[in-house]
Amino acid sequence: MQAETKSMNVLMHEKWKKRPLIIIVHCSAETEEQVLETATRLAKTGKVDVLRAGIWKPRTKPGLFEGIGMKGLPWLAQAKKITGLPVTIEVATAKHVEDALHFDIDMLWLGARTTVNPFSVQEVADALRGVDVPVLIKNPVHPDLDLWCGGIERLQKVGIKQIGMIHRGFSNYGNTEFRNAPMWHLPIEMKRRFPEMLLICDPSHICGNRALLQSIAQKSIDLDFDGLMIESHIDPDNAWSDAKQQVTPERLAELLDGLIWRHENTTESEFLSALATLREQINHIDDELLLLIGQRMKVADKIGEYKKDNNITILQTNRWNDILARATKKGEALGLSKEFISKYFDAVHLESINHQNKIMND
Ligand code: PEP
Ligand code: MN
Repeated sequence: MQAETKSMNVLMHEKWKKRPLIIIVHCSAETEEQVLETATRLAKTGKVDVLRAGIWKPRTKPGLFEGIGMKGLPWLAQAKKITGLPVTIEVATAKHVEDALHFDIDMLWLGARTTVNPFSVQEVADALRGVDVPVLIKNPVHPDLDLWCGGIERLQKVGIKQIGMIHRGFSNYGNTEFRNAPMWHLPIEMKRRFPEMLLICDPSHICGNRALLQSIAQKSIDLDFDGLMIESHIDPDNAWSDAKQQVTPERLAELLDGLIWRHENTTESEFLSALATLREQINHIDDELLLLIGQRMKVADKIGEYKKDNNITILQTNRWNDILARATKKGEALGLSKEFISKYFDAVHLESINHQNKIMND
């Protein structure tokens, strides 16, 4: 699933090659007027590449607006005609795929609640066998990269060549600042596994509110994502779904204007040589750190031998608490976060325990 399959994974048609790719969204298609007015106002901003609308909406609880259904597809066809922009919708069943293709939808996406279910992904994949349409796949609801990769593989296996990923954050229990925690290391790992696959960020579903949209969008750009999928509504407060995270087309244009798109690479020689020097320093420091960690483990080995001779347990909780408290204090003074110190020391401590365990039990 790694680099060797990457050439299959790019959204390769010319029209999808633009970067950043901006997909703007009606969360749900509600009425013909809403779809057409949003589309027209979005198109007017000149900043949108693809129009999106939820036609069938997977809602957590019954009784909420579950999408306008088939009735909305001609509205989208009309929006496409008026604006000249391609359109994309979410599909979750074989019937959705059939209807979408019938209405000439340009791009499809699988939602988080679909990716999480291999039966559904397979059903959609089977319905797409032999069809050349770009498909974006959202991360599953919970942080499970194998499920996300599995979804991609299912699409690849039926011959879909244009596949992209959407990062919409991961569900977590309790109130946090985000509707879905971004857990940035997970999309970064997916980028490592599929280096040439389009990776889009969906700040709307990460944030669940308007206030954080801009900063999350910027963060994804700084992490070299290829584009954004953001929801927009002509009357945000009265949207039939996800009202809190909608912004008007005009506010959205402002938000996009405020973003700074950086490049992953440059050919500017002064910058490149400064970067090379700094990277050399980093390599040097990393080498030293590894040497020191190796030395630390040798001391741990000695302690292990000592404990073995004196019949003492490997773990002494008080000592471990002391180490953590001391390191947190020192680390914070050096500008290192508590979270980092705790993760780093957990890893070092586990390695020490493994070393000592080997000595005591081998
Ligand atoms: C959506 O895109 O409107 C949606 C339902 O999102 P998700 O699948 O990320 O929950
Ligand atoms: Mn939504």
